Amino acid sequence: MPLSEFALIERYFRTCGAQRADVRLGVGDDAALLAMPAGCDLVAATDTLVAGVHFPMASPPASIGHRALAVNLSDLAAMGARPAWALLALTLPQADEAWLGEFAAGFDALARAHAVALVGGDTTRGPLCVTVQLLGHVPGGSALTRGGGRPGDVLFVSGTPGDAGAGLALEQGRLEAPPEARAYLRERFLLPTPRMALGQRLREHASACIDVSDGLLADAGKLAAASHTGAELVFGDVPVSEPLLAALGEERARELALTAGDDYELCFAVPADNVARLHAELPPQQWRYARIGVLRAAAGAVVVRGGTVMEFSHCGYEHFT
Ligand code: ADP
Ligand code: MG
Repeated sequence: MPLSEFALIERYFRTCGAQRADVRLGVGDDAALLAMPAGCDLVAATDTLVAGVHFPMASPPASIGHRALAVNLSDLAAMGARPAWALLALTLPQADEAWLGEFAAGFDALARAHAVALVGGDTTRGPLCVTVQLLGHVPGGSALTRGGGRPGDVLFVSGTPGDAGAGLALEQGRLEAPPEARAYLRERFLLPTPRMALGQRLREHASACIDVSDGLLADAGKLAAASHTGAELVFGDVPVSEPLLAALGEERARELALTAGDDYELCFAVPADNVARLHAELPPQQWRYARIGVLRAAAGAVVVRGGTVMEFSHCGYEHFT
């Protein structure tokens, strides 16, 4: 007998994620009741993953659960926020229990790792589509934004962008790679790591921050535009992982690092005078970030190499183009 909507919610979602004392009422009533800490600003984000658009149809269900939360965690990381509560709107073609069990486990593991409670949602029938809304907070007035950068600020990126893009290409059979590189790159797409601790620490250091979801060059350009500046990235400074180098070689690895999506790393600006303190308090090797360029007065985002500006046929993935 097919699972009723009520039974499905009870079985898979009532006790999903962390338990939190600030949840007055969670899953089961008409809406959740949440206690905000005094003096904090509420930070809210939502992102939708559509099967066949944001992930291949046959993706492992645990990866879909993980990514649906991870992409929203990454948005809160970019604001310097602490995540707390999630809502999950799930559209399913059918109530497949094996699929639901793995999906919920993927969501649950990441939610617990970041102390996020699942406090509500909606369950409907239709083509597979997952929307998560994530709520969190920052001390009042202290959130990072895309808009605080100034010309001369130094630009950084966390992690090694391009890995997830290569992982997706591997999933789709568009790329070949040696076996160890393959496993690593695939995992960077299937299980991205939102940089929550870095984002929260950057409130003390960064003038502006964005999470890299549509490609480093495109997203650095968005940060620059919101800051009324431009961005100049140095091709040879873009950090790339050993597996990406093994799969693509240096030239194509850096190109992919600049243009591929799905990284969920942080790109941030730091005033030049504060960089020494940043490096002292958050050592780059330990916190895994690298300098990639600067903000400049002239608008636009460019990549330079040996003093000349490089042309890119596309700078990141855009919907509807
Ligand atoms: P209503 O008709 O009042 O919207 P629902 O039957 O849709 O109520 O949902 C019942 C309860 O289950 C609500 O608390 C809702 O937030 C929660 N819920 C529904 N679907 C999900 C889901 N996929 N994940 C978590 N909570 C859910
Ligand atoms: Mg409802």
